[in-house]
Amino acid sequence: MKVAAEGTRLTAVDRAAAAKAPAPAPERMAGLAAILDYVRAHGSTTRTELASATGLSRAVVVQRVSELVERGLLESGEIGPSTGGRAPRTVRFRSSAGHLLVADLGATSIDVAVVDLSSAVLAHASEPADIAAGPDVVLGRVEEMLEECLAEADELPGSLLGIGIGVPGPVEFESGRPVAPPIMPGWDQYDVRGHFASYAVPVWVDNDVNVMALAEIRAGVARGHENVVFIKIGTGIGAGIVVRGLLHRGAQGCAGDVGHIQVTDDQSVVCRCGNVGCLEALAGGAALAREGEALARHGRSPRLAKVLEEEGAVEATDVAVAASHGDAASIELITNAGRLVGSTLAGIVNFFNPSLVVIGGGVAGSGDLLLATIRESVYRRSLPLATRDLLIMRSSLRDLAGVTGAAAMVTDELFAPPRLVHRLAGSEH
Ligand SMILES: [Zn+2]
Repeated sequence: MKVAAEGTRLTAVDRAAAAKAPAPAPERMAGLAAILDYVRAHGSTTRTELASATGLSRAVVVQRVSELVERGLLESGEIGPSTGGRAPRTVRFRSSAGHLLVADLGATSIDVAVVDLSSAVLAHASEPADIAAGPDVVLGRVEEMLEECLAEADELPGSLLGIGIGVPGPVEFESGRPVAPPIMPGWDQYDVRGHFASYAVPVWVDNDVNVMALAEIRAGVARGHENVVFIKIGTGIGAGIVVRGLLHRGAQGCAGDVGHIQVTDDQSVVCRCGNVGCLEALAGGAALAREGEALARHGRSPRLAKVLEEEGAVEATDVAVAASHGDAASIELITNAGRLVGSTLAGIVNFFNPSLVVIGGGVAGSGDLLLATIRESVYRRSLPLATRDLLIMRSSLRDLAGVTGAAAMVTDELFAPPRLVHRLAGSEH
């Protein structure tokens, strides 16, 4: 009787849901999501290509494609290459089906953008900021900057569909709340989503390194790679891990926090996380800046001494630039940092066997020596099989990696099956 009663209840719920908005059946849903996914990843695609990529029959592909066209998510593309008969028509993702608001918060900067659904930037703004000023101040400014961008973009495609935020600390992805972020006082458990409630669209928050890794696999050098490690070397050091084309966030969302792997027993190397001997405490941007300033003060680097005199402080990028100009003490600093990152990375490569390692972040972008040293250490210390086809490349997205990745995070979530059901069930196009 219990089964029957439950059955009745479920049917009633189903009926109520169906009356409100008829949702596609799960099987059909999976097909729609697979087609949308493929077209988003590969651009203009023929129906024949979709059938072979998704394993769906051609008749089913034709039906699903026309449904997605009707819903405004796909549109006719250019005519594809002919294989003898009539040239096939292609379909492509309709990136103008809506727009998104995105922000990338760094330790010392805010970047915001209005983007379309293919992450193309329609308006962008950037300014220095101190994340330690706390969520009310920083997010208040983010909102003002976004409003300025909205006013500046002449024509906005479709309606606002979502908001994506990257923050420089660990985030519990489900709730969108930062969790004990070491450099973000006042942000622990802060309801970032709630701050943007007035926009009445879904909001996703993740740490900046995950967001940058997503940018690389959707729009950067990692496109087409399935297993990727993205390492960010900025003020701190962190990694984003892509497994079979998807971001691996881990059980609590803190996977890839490689900056706090212990690399020395030296008790005097105290990290901002409270432990001693962390990679980041020796090789991160903050450590390089501190060491660089010490070189300048102790007369070991005339070049950095000049920077200190003119700017009042030495930054990690100054050390990288000095090294690229042949400053001996800076070369030593960068080489040591590169070796430490490289040997940690070698362990990760042995463990995970990626086909590509992408090195990004402000420090990595400011000179070739760091990348060269990291590369040399990884190849020297990893297993031959793991490095046989391994590529180690610099990020190609640079300054736009954060906002591009935040946009990719939002579209990935918007068009994943559970939410896609709501979009397709609703009347909204
Ligand atoms: Zn640490």
